[in-house]
Amino acid sequence: MILLHYTGMPKADAALELLRAQGSEVSAHYFVFEDGRIIQMVRESNRAWHAGRAYWAGEADINSCSIGIEIANPGHDHGYPDFPKRQIAAVTTLCRSIQTRNTIPSVRVLAHSDVAPSRKMDPGEKFPWRTLHDSGVGHWVKPSPIMNFGQTLSPGDRGDPVAAMQRSLREYGYGIEASGEYDTTTRDVVAAFQRHFRPERVDGIADPSTRGTLQELLATRGGPRNIAARARTATLLVAP
Ligand SMILES: [Zn+2]
Repeated sequence: MILLHYTGMPKADAALELLRAQGSEVSAHYFVFEDGRIIQMVRESNRAWHAGRAYWAGEADINSCSIGIEIANPGHDHGYPDFPKRQIAAVTTLCRSIQTRNTIPSVRVLAHSDVAPSRKMDPGEKFPWRTLHDSGVGHWVKPSPIMNFGQTLSPGDRGDPVAAMQRSLREYGYGIEASGEYDTTTRDVVAAFQRHFRPERVDGIADPSTRGTLQELLATRGGPRNIAARARTATLLVAP
């Protein structure tokens, strides 16, 4: 997979220095500056230390199956500025190149927050996943609109609808059990999901828009083949 990060430090140079320092115990394959310059620090075939304790789709050793890209941005603790266009263009080109050379499916271009939802927020809700998707990088669907009706699931809720939502999140890849209890882990996973796929409101509450977006992602994640199957199903449903 490709895992995207932000550096979370006020100055890019200091972040780069940390990633290159002996003994810092953090590293990444690539570093992308605000102006779009890219530095490779680790060979793609080698393991870098960027994911930490994490999980995705049955895999807990994310460092061993991912290429990490650090994107220079001060992050939520330091004002969280927008990602400059030139930087996003560089990240997109880099991802396309990595994707092609390593045959990485679009559903496996992810945020650090997707694989470590209770610990990480990066690259965050300002990261333009849609722009990347428009250039053929990553899986994305237009978020279901936020509306004031339909069933909302919130922290503290329990029961079958909560379990069903947890199962859907797990099916997509998130590290969550279908306990039927909307606990703090569930809130964190829902917030991580929103940062990536429904960034308009990141609150950890599973409103109909969040759940609708999740279902649409599940329905489209297989690429064209799955979409064709879905179209056939739709035809069956309307057939007499
Ligand atoms: Zn990170």
